[in-house]
Amino acid sequence: MNALIDPVAELDAADPLRQFRDEFLLKDGQIYLDGNSLGALPRATLARMETTLREEWGEGLITSWLGADWVNSPGRIGDKIARLIGAESGEVIAADSTSVNIFKALTAALSLQSGRRVLLSEQTNFPTDVYMMQGLARFSGEAIECVAVDPGKVLDSLNEDVAVLLLTQVHYKTGSTRDMAKVTRRAHEVGALVVWDLSHSAGAIEVDLNGANADFAVGCGYKFLNGGPGAPAFLFAAKRHHHAQPVLSGWFGHARPFAFEEDYTAADGIMRFLCGTPPVLAMTALECGIDLMLRADMPEIRRKSVALSELFIEWMDQRCGEFGFELISPTDSSIRGSQVAYAHPQGYEMMQALKARGVIGDFRAPDVMRFGLTPLYLRYADVVDAVERLRAICISREWDRLEYRTRATVT
Ligand SMILES: *Cc1c(COP(=O)(O)O)cnc(C)c1O
Repeated sequence: MNALIDPVAELDAADPLRQFRDEFLLKDGQIYLDGNSLGALPRATLARMETTLREEWGEGLITSWLGADWVNSPGRIGDKIARLIGAESGEVIAADSTSVNIFKALTAALSLQSGRRVLLSEQTNFPTDVYMMQGLARFSGEAIECVAVDPGKVLDSLNEDVAVLLLTQVHYKTGSTRDMAKVTRRAHEVGALVVWDLSHSAGAIEVDLNGANADFAVGCGYKFLNGGPGAPAFLFAAKRHHHAQPVLSGWFGHARPFAFEEDYTAADGIMRFLCGTPPVLAMTALECGIDLMLRADMPEIRRKSVALSELFIEWMDQRCGEFGFELISPTDSSIRGSQVAYAHPQGYEMMQALKARGVIGDFRAPDVMRFGLTPLYLRYADVVDAVERLRAICISREWDRLEYRTRATVT
């Protein structure tokens, strides 16, 4: 490295997103590489939550459903998310968890596919996605069949029996991406519908749902959208599918919830996919995270994400190359999301030792160390510093301690 010009400092100085870091509450000296699991706290969220609690709830009480527009929060926030994922306003709601939205999207898609009985996914999909399919198949008395195939065999497994294909666009472990337009086209060729899980896509990469002619999608609010722990998730349904029949037919999805009618009539449009009362406090925090993200330019976020990942991989090669890390993310940035993952037999212990040195990533069984790269609050210098701390741990072997071997319940 040139002593006069530090190239990494130059990158940070020229970074068009650099001012966003100060918008987050981050601890000095800590390098947070887990924004793909739980995004950081925007400073604006703190102040906004105080207002929602004191003024809207405390003073406004029930009048705030209208006065503070709580009642429209699922659609209002959904419209904002739509701008990040290539959807139109009126096609997205913020509601429930990703798991519940998977169930809602699968059943809605099934209601459009009479005569077909197969739900298709890949074996290595995020477990909850497959679990939700399995529960649905069991509930149907096996009228519906759940098929999870090898990731490389998904396209070949599409046939006229497949009602719905459920896939995650950015793989939660490896970060490898699927070509949404191509897969959707192939599924439509055999008459199947696709539900895309965008949990690791929204706020991380450019997504164009309508450009890909997508049917349904779901995604997570607490990862790259910085919506807070357990934030509400989102659900997208293309306009042409708004006549699909909701199975979770709760009163918030009713055409006239406050008419208290005896029978269910689905609301028009995306609102029929609501179920119960929105969790207003959590919705407030989610909206703050999204408002912040909307101030940044998505192509710029993607450019920086690629640059951070390339720097991370290059530095790992140079500084940790001799310690047995196996890159399991694609080396080609065009098919990699905003995270980099390495397999290592001592991955769990190493991640514990890294955390003790202020670098927070996470671990996914059996041996994967994941490093999320969030362009809004990470600096290029952080990436280099994180790899240097990992190198120090490898040289000192400080991961080899008894206390780092015990597996915690959350990894
Ligand atoms: C994080 C994640 C989820 C999370 O689902 P929850 O219901 O919010 O727990 C689902 N699918 C994928 C692909 C994820 O990465």
